[in-house]
Amino acid sequence: MNGLNNIQTSTSEYRGRLAPSPTGYLHLGHARTFWTAYERAVARGGKLILRNEDLDSARCKAEFVEAMFEDLRWFGLEWREGPDIGGPFASYAQSARRQFYLATFAKLKAGGFVYPCTCSRKDVERAITAPHAADDEPIYPGTCRNKTIDAANTAQVNWRFRVPDGETIRFQDGNLDHQKFVAGRDFGDFIIWRHDQIPSYQLAVVVDDAAMQITEVVRGEDLLISTARQLLLYRALGLKAPSFYHCALMTDDHGVRLAKRHDALSLRSLREQGLTPEGIRKSWDFLA
Ligand code: GLU
Repeated sequence: MNGLNNIQTSTSEYRGRLAPSPTGYLHLGHARTFWTAYERAVARGGKLILRNEDLDSARCKAEFVEAMFEDLRWFGLEWREGPDIGGPFASYAQSARRQFYLATFAKLKAGGFVYPCTCSRKDVERAITAPHAADDEPIYPGTCRNKTIDAANTAQVNWRFRVPDGETIRFQDGNLDHQKFVAGRDFGDFIIWRHDQIPSYQLAVVVDDAAMQITEVVRGEDLLISTARQLLLYRALGLKAPSFYHCALMTDDHGVRLAKRHDALSLRSLREQGLTPEGIRKSWDFLA
């Protein structure tokens, strides 16, 4: 970590974050989660940080980054640090933070927390984005856990975090109360670093939330299991974990979670249809 990332903020200050990935236009589901994050930061007299989670260079687009700033501002969200305004923990774009991910990956390797894996599976491809769909990755069967892979050949392999099989990971969620997930049963050894030298979502998000001194992570409840994974990373790295607040997901008429493909519910199309941010927020009061 460089000097900037060691800057200390007041320990009592609430620091929340908005962490969108610019792979499409933001929709109503993002708006509701982000509004919750905003209200929680305001209620505590804290700060909200905007982070551009653009690790997946194949899917992230500059036009969506611009749209993200515009749509969030239109909706009434404000942030005090971010890619567009800077701040003490810059850069606030993951694509520019590689040095921090590399340094943490090296620590995990040195501590024996990760192992090289030569299996080619779908979860490897998907590891650079947050596992949002209800179908989280299948549990890795541990094929490469105890294999010896020649150090000379480790440049092209994936690296997985070895989870403590059978251990119950517990946390108190700000919204959903007591949560527990069993390592090896609810989730398996997960990707930390990909063969094409891209860090995984799980690694990047922990490195950034810790470096940016986030005190509470507000996000959708489909990431509960990822929170359990991330708590193992915080522990392995000797870092203090933030608190967590998981929000209910917004679904469409068929009960399907809103995603960027629901174009009609993107903030910009709602704006074009003449809806106002206040009107949208009022409509939430009628939701369960
Ligand atoms: N960039 C991730 C997403 O948009 C954020 C997930 C998180 O809150 O950790 O899905």
